[in-house]
Amino acid sequence: MADKRDQGATSSAPLDLDAIRRRIPTCPAPWYVEYDEPAGKWLIGYPTANPLAGLIATVPDYGEQLAEFIAHARTDVPALVEQVAALAAELERVRAVVERIRDCHDDGREGVCCGQAYPCETVYHLDDMQPAAQPRPDA
Ligand SMILES: [Zn+2]
Repeated sequence: MADKRDQGATSSAPLDLDAIRRRIPTCPAPWYVEYDEPAGKWLIGYPTANPLAGLIATVPDYGEQLAEFIAHARTDVPALVEQVAALAAELERVRAVVERIRDCHDDGREGVCCGQAYPCETVYHLDDMQPAAQPRPDA
């Protein structure tokens, strides 16, 4: 049997949003958390006509925070995945704009850009937006 303990994303690995989307359960949302007093457990489930049919998990009585986390994951994870996808698309669009501006300023004019020594302030600030920012020319 495969060890499933280390199949999650790490902080340094890129997220596989499609894989995360495939793991999102298709059962109805949102999920509820309800304390079962006689059993001393938190019940996590989704709404159905038959309350017992929608039961997903139980958590010991000391695990209210865990139960809330699990129940909210059903709606939080899809929302996070879509927000990450939207932000990644926006970042890609902004990077393309930055490259077009850089190309416009870096037009091969013998070290001169916008009447200033290359890189001009515009190119400097564009470089500053990149993950590996270069030192400022006048520093
Ligand atoms: Zn320039």
